[in-house]
Amino acid sequence: MLDIVQNGDPVLRTTAAEILPADISSPKIQKILNDMTVALEAQEDGVAIAAPQIGVPLRIFVVSHRALAIEKEEETGIPADETPSTKKSKNLVFINPEILKLSKKRHWVPEGCLSVRWLYGKVLRAEKTSVRAYDETGKRFTRNGNGLMAQIFQHETDHLNGALFIDKARGIEEIHPEDLREGARLSHD
Ligand code: ZN
Repeated sequence: MLDIVQNGDPVLRTTAAEILPADISSPKIQKILNDMTVALEAQEDGVAIAAPQIGVPLRIFVVSHRALAIEKEEETGIPADETPSTKKSKNLVFINPEILKLSKKRHWVPEGCLSVRWLYGKVLRAEKTSVRAYDETGKRFTRNGNGLMAQIFQHETDHLNGALFIDKARGIEEIHPEDLREGARLSHD
């Protein structure tokens, strides 16, 4: 299992470097994408991961199918139930992401991080964002996000700029998984 880099490691405080679009298809970058996917999948509560979280200072983040299921739930109001019979969405890969838009409307949302176990706090995030990036095949795309997805885009972009949610969170508290009420859900990225 790939370890997730924890707070205190300098790689989390580095400004990650851009990738040449021509290098996206290289075995080196494809292996990093695979490693990120494996590391994210191993974290049951993980909704996204940035490359520095596996020790790689490059501008890449991956959004889990779990986040896509929650997004769908937010849009439709139908609870996301990822039983084996439910078709999982594919993870979304963002290479050299740029935030194009942030809504003026912001809200305080609970946040955690796979690299800052087990702290939680509230962070002021734009409710809507739009991000442009390259996908794993080197194709350029733009993706809009509301709610959790918008929060993820902002949290992951912060990682690529060496920032952690604890830098600006309020009401930070430590909550261990065994203390969570049954059915409670806290997402991490
Ligand atoms: Zn994080």
